[in-house]
Amino acid sequence: MGVPRVYCECGVCQDAREQGVNRRYRSSVLLESKEGSFLIDCGPDWRTAMERHRVRFAEQILVTHAHFDHIGGLPEWADSCRWLNRRGQLYAPQEVIDIIIRQYPWLPGQLDMHPIGQGLELAGWHIEGWKVFHGKNGYSYAYRLTKRGYVWAYCSDAIALSEEQKAPLHGLDLLILGTSFYEEKAEFSTRSVYDIKEALELLQEIQPKRSLFTHLSHDIDLRRDYGLPDNVALAYTGKTVLLK
Ligand SMILES: [Zn+2]
Ligand SMILES: [Zn+2]
Repeated sequence: MGVPRVYCECGVCQDAREQGVNRRYRSSVLLESKEGSFLIDCGPDWRTAMERHRVRFAEQILVTHAHFDHIGGLPEWADSCRWLNRRGQLYAPQEVIDIIIRQYPWLPGQLDMHPIGQGLELAGWHIEGWKVFHGKNGYSYAYRLTKRGYVWAYCSDAIALSEEQKAPLHGLDLLILGTSFYEEKAEFSTRSVYDIKEALELLQEIQPKRSLFTHLSHDIDLRRDYGLPDNVALAYTGKTVLLK
């Protein structure tokens, strides 16, 4: 939902209101390299994030799933393409594209939609996506990206992955994993994303060299020390990571 949440006056939301470290946008990644750049996901904070990074145009966006916090910025992206007279290139599994077009039927006027088949290449990265369990919300997609021997994965919206769904998460240099709460007390059937405690157990199992937790709600206070292992950190707005 982004932090601060409009209705909330908790310490984390108050810090966020005062432009503190806890002010955070909906999860997204901008990958930059000499071979080009692309974004992963385009939520409702897309415009604000673009302004913050002083990026004027996004040519390519890879989408994980068709939930509002991951696609709510698509109409603004399409509008920017219109005014720049350039076409945007959207990449997603076919079923995700189908929902996007149902929701925003005018987007193909500005955006080319590319269904992902057996992997794709973007900015020199070889990318493979697979379906991951997203709890009460059904399924999302995670992506495994490889370039010159560096391997990382983006899995923002998942919970209780099966062994098969965990398989592509082995042998990673970096894992970016969504964790909304530190310890989510709600009943399992109502949940949709790992909490930090569960995520740490998952890391024990798959042993990525390094991990970053994203998709953080106002339950997580970046000013607090959660005693995370040295190779695990919390993402924050504007964080940059060197992929090597
Ligand atoms: Zn709050
Ligand atoms: Zn999400």
